[in-house]
Amino acid sequence: MCETNHTPAAAREFSVKSNGREIAFTSTLSNAEMLQTLFLMSNGSNFARDLYRVRDRLSSAQLAWGHKLAVDHLRPAAVAVAAPLNMSQVFDLLDTAAASGLKYPKLRFGLSDGRVLTLSVAGPMSKAPGTMKVVTGSRANGDDVFRGRARRGGDFSAARNCPPEVFALLESLAADPRAVIVANGRLNGVCCFCARVLSDARSLAAGYGDTCAGNWGMPWGAASMSAASLVSAAVPEWVAADNAALAAARADDEANPGRFDNLDRVPCDC
Ligand SMILES: [Zn+2]
Repeated sequence: MCETNHTPAAAREFSVKSNGREIAFTSTLSNAEMLQTLFLMSNGSNFARDLYRVRDRLSSAQLAWGHKLAVDHLRPAAVAVAAPLNMSQVFDLLDTAAASGLKYPKLRFGLSDGRVLTLSVAGPMSKAPGTMKVVTGSRANGDDVFRGRARRGGDFSAARNCPPEVFALLESLAADPRAVIVANGRLNGVCCFCARVLSDARSLAAGYGDTCAGNWGMPWGAASMSAASLVSAAVPEWVAADNAALAAARADDEANPGRFDNLDRVPCDC
C-alpha cells in the first residue's frame, strides 16, 4: 500500500445508506483532502461534482458520502500501479515548452498537504536522461521525494511510497493534462507552469498566464478561449458554466492558508 508523506487526519467512522443498506467505513482524510479529491473526480462523477458544489453546506449525510466517494476513489490507486499510466500527452507539453526555449520546463501542482507535485524531464547528466521525473516536496526546503518516473513514449512507474493523492492526480494528467491544468489553475489561482499567482482576470479564466500559454502551446485570452474547442471541451462543464463556484473556490483557498505556502506568492506577470 502507498503511504502518505504527512500525518493523516485521525481516522473517523462514517456510514452511508445505499439501497437501504447501511455501509460503515473509516476515513483518514481531512475534509479538505476529501474536497480536493471530489474536485479531481468531478470530471467523471456527477455525484462528486454535486457534492463539491455544495461543499460549504454539506449535511452530515452528504459529508459521509463525500468521504465514501473520496476513500473509494483513492483506494484502488495503489493497486492501479500495476496498470501503467501513459504519460505521452504530458511529455508533449514538456517538449513544446522546451522547443519554445524554456531551459527547465516544469509542471507544478499544489497538494492538499501543502506540498507541490513537480513533473520535469531529466537532463542529459541525470541517471535516466530524457525520462520524466515525478517528485513531491516543499521547494523552499529542497526536500524533494522521488515518486516515480515515466519513460518517453509512455509508461509511468510509481515509486513504492507514491501517495494515493499523487497517483490520482497523475492518472488525471495522463488522461487529459490540459483539463487538469485549467481546472487546477482556476481552483487555486496559481499558474502550474511558472508557479506564480494569477492576478489577471483573463489568466484566472484560462487557469494560467499569457506568457506561459505561449510557451506551452495553450490558448489564452477571450478570443482564443472561445475559439478553442480544446479548452471548452477539456474544462469540466460546471467550471465553465458556474462563475460563482469559481469565485467560491478561490475564496475557499484564501481561507485555507498553507496549501501553496511553498510557491512564490508574487503576482504572475505573464
Ligand atoms: Zn505562468
